Amino acid sequence: MARKSDDWKTGKLPKAPGDGPVPPPNGWRFSLGYALAAIVLISVFNWLIVSADSSVVPYSRFKELIRTDVIVRIELGANYYTGHTTPKPAPSQSLITRREESADLVYKTVPVYDPAFTALLDEKGVDYEALPQEGNAVLSFVMSWLLPIGLLFFLMRGLQKRMSGLGSNVLSIGQNKATIVAEGDVKTRFADVAGVDEAKEELVEVVDFLKNPTKYTEIGGKIPKGVLIVGAPGTGKTLLARAVAGEAGVPFFRMSGADFVEMFVGVGAARVRDLFKQAREKAPCIIFIDELDAIGKSRLSGVVGGNDEREQTLNQLLVEMDGFDATSGLIILAATNRPDVLDPALMRPGRFDRQVAVDRPDLEGRKAILSIHSKSVKLDAGVDITKVARSTPGFVGADLANVVNESALLAVRAGRKRVHQEDFERAIEKIMTGLEKKSRVMNQDERKLIAFHEAGHALTAAFTPGADPVQKVTIVPRGLGALGFTLQVPVEDRYVVTEDKLLGEIDVLLGGRAAEDLVFGRVSTGAANDITRATDIARRMITDYGMSERFKNVALTRRGAGFLGPQAEPVMTREYSEDTQRYIDETVASVIAERYERSKAVLTGRRETLDRLAAELLEKETIDEARFKELAGL
Ligand code: ADP
Ligand code: MG
Ligand code: ZN
Repeated sequence: MARKSDDWKTGKLPKAPGDGPVPPPNGWRFSLGYALAAIVLISVFNWLIVSADSSVVPYSRFKELIRTDVIVRIELGANYYTGHTTPKPAPSQSLITRREESADLVYKTVPVYDPAFTALLDEKGVDYEALPQEGNAVLSFVMSWLLPIGLLFFLMRGLQKRMSGLGSNVLSIGQNKATIVAEGDVKTRFADVAGVDEAKEELVEVVDFLKNPTKYTEIGGKIPKGVLIVGAPGTGKTLLARAVAGEAGVPFFRMSGADFVEMFVGVGAARVRDLFKQAREKAPCIIFIDELDAIGKSRLSGVVGGNDEREQTLNQLLVEMDGFDATSGLIILAATNRPDVLDPALMRPGRFDRQVAVDRPDLEGRKAILSIHSKSVKLDAGVDITKVARSTPGFVGADLANVVNESALLAVRAGRKRVHQEDFERAIEKIMTGLEKKSRVMNQDERKLIAFHEAGHALTAAFTPGADPVQKVTIVPRGLGALGFTLQVPVEDRYVVTEDKLLGEIDVLLGGRAAEDLVFGRVSTGAANDITRATDIARRMITDYGMSERFKNVALTRRGAGFLGPQAEPVMTREYSEDTQRYIDETVASVIAERYERSKAVLTGRRETLDRLAAELLEKETIDEARFKELAGL
């Protein structure tokens, strides 16, 4: 019967009279009251019909009336005999004449078993006929069968609604919500996504897996089963997943992690099973699990006792992922903005072994996104998209889409036919305020600080012998916590690191803070992570690598791998005295101080270059390798 409870919501019943202060949303009591009222009404109605009929006479009187020739015609019904005092009108006569003629008195009686009755009628020459039962039959069928069933049905729906109000629809446990969103013909293409070129490149390959699986399997390669898209909210993860389905021309099953998490234990697991069953039938296709973290949270980190339901759901997902054959043309995409909380089991080979990072867009990216979204609005010739992109640092794709829409609305409000630059500026202001409240966008001072900080890292790296070359410098925030970053890529794989190189690494790490100090005369918390890492290197040089003066070639700690393998924190055993501890602390401090001075000296001697780099970062946000070399004069 009714699987979905939604339609019930619209069919609100009127409040039953005398039901007192029962609040309308309470479906259960509500419909019970309604049913009782209906029953009372029906019996009253029935009683009224019978008692109002004053022409009903006792059977004996009825027979008397026949004998005395008062009744000349009788209709023999199943429930009543109806006696008429006038003969039956001719069939050709119209309704009106029948009315006019009705001096007809009617007597009714309830039949009694009386075999001699017809003999009496024949003897008296009374005109009699039996009424066909049909008309009454339908009515009585309705009254005796359909009405009770209907009432019961209503009661059940009320009950069901009450149950579903508790969190789940009892009658639809395991029903798959994914069916509703399975899209056959996805219109999104890669061209609709901009500013995330690296992620796009990786996903292009996934499209190819779906389109030509044999190309890969023939050579013996394994097609990945799962790809995890990681990025801040609004950067276009969902859009990208949809674009993959659109480009590959395959059906797209989209479910959010939260859809799996239900109140009843086992529902989530059943949904996962259903989802995969359906997807296998439709393969090649894409399953997209949005907000994977809702079910994929690490099982270890839960509250005491854990969350059984989520755990079961996650286990089912793992089982399904292991269960299908990679050649079946089924690829699972998932999105999250919290990769850090995901269960490590999800990342194992054969599961989500590929990760695609979706970064916030830089200036060029924002320009491209704005162009995509402003295609559908009428722009004034004076609108400068580059300028708009420049004044929206830190905005993600969703914010930019919002900017375009908001400016169109503002233009309409101002009574314009086209969107002007002014509308864009006001829209940005409006959205920026909201984003600043959520501290998602940096203000100008912070950007300047970060620009110098990153320029400092890059420049020290360039002038530290043996340091890895700088490949990219950016002030576009990436991932969680990082405000900007300087990407150095090693020229070759290295298994042994020299003392010089370790010191060089410390220099580069301290370069960020040195630049802040040099330019602004004050330091910030932005360098916290750098400081931790630099200190760690300095300490390990002393305790692990035997690179200090007093403990030359002596290891002061013993590191044993935890029994959980390399992923677990190594168990550290301290094997030195308090005095040694003091020596270590002091040496770390002096090494750091020394290297810091060196970094600062490197930057002081190149102050102009540093300023140039920072200025360019502020303007363009990203500097690539070639441009960096040019600016640094390498
Ligand atoms: P996420 O899933 O990462 O939170 P969405 O994909 O849901 O973000 O993005 C929401 C909307 O923002 C999209 O529908 C699209 O209109 C816009 N958008 C986000 N990122 C981009 C992008 N890189 N290019 C174009 N539009 C984007
Ligand atoms: Mg999304
Ligand atoms: Zn830094």
